Amino acid sequence: MSQDKIYISYDCVHKLCQKAADQILSTVGKPDVIVAIGGGGFIPSRIIRTFLRHQGEKNIPIQAIGLSLYEDLGTGSDSIGKEVIRTQWLDFGALAQHFDSLIGKNILIVDEVDDTRTTLHYALTELYNDIKENAEKLGKDMGNTKFSIFVVNNKLKEKRAEIDESLMNGGMYLSGEDVPDKWIAYPWESSDIDTHTKLAKEQGNN
Ligand code: 5GP
Repeated sequence: MSQDKIYISYDCVHKLCQKAADQILSTVGKPDVIVAIGGGGFIPSRIIRTFLRHQGEKNIPIQAIGLSLYEDLGTGSDSIGKEVIRTQWLDFGALAQHFDSLIGKNILIVDEVDDTRTTLHYALTELYNDIKENAEKLGKDMGNTKFSIFVVNNKLKEKRAEIDESLMNGGMYLSGEDVPDKWIAYPWESSDIDTHTKLAKEQGNN
């Protein structure tokens, strides 16, 4: 295993989620729904949910979306170099039937890492556009729909896309920890969790 990588333990992810939940609750308040970007956003979403709920309250629903990045062969000046493909998206019909529409909700988008920011840019823009389209169909506006973003790690590097804060309506962008631009090894990808955890501890990421 290479020391050029940053090793993150399960405990480290857990503690960063706990700290972020406190910050979210004290600023934007309890989310109504968590949108987990798969697969890296699934485990952090489940952990942060634990800390976003006060005792006796109902669980916050977690909705999964799947996005894949492909190299974009386009040469347009606004090209961000990679194309994002939806492999799984929200089922607005089922949501409206079993939960509620997302219009006016406090929405928290979760992923494990903000690398080039392409994925987060896409997720925020497309969720916003889809909810707006849904609202318009119902003769409504976006109301107080608010988007926040939580990533376990943000890489300090030049990004290929930006987060449009005007879409967030006062929601926050939060990273558990900013890290150098290196490959991050997460515990759920490890085939040898004992060594992984040992390396994470040696780096102080436990
Ligand atoms: P983006 O470049 O759009 O910010 O990140 C795209 C995706 O690439 C992330 O959601 C994540 O799944 C993957 N990724 C980027 N950098 C890393 C990394 O350092 N470690 C791991 N495990 N995945 C990464």
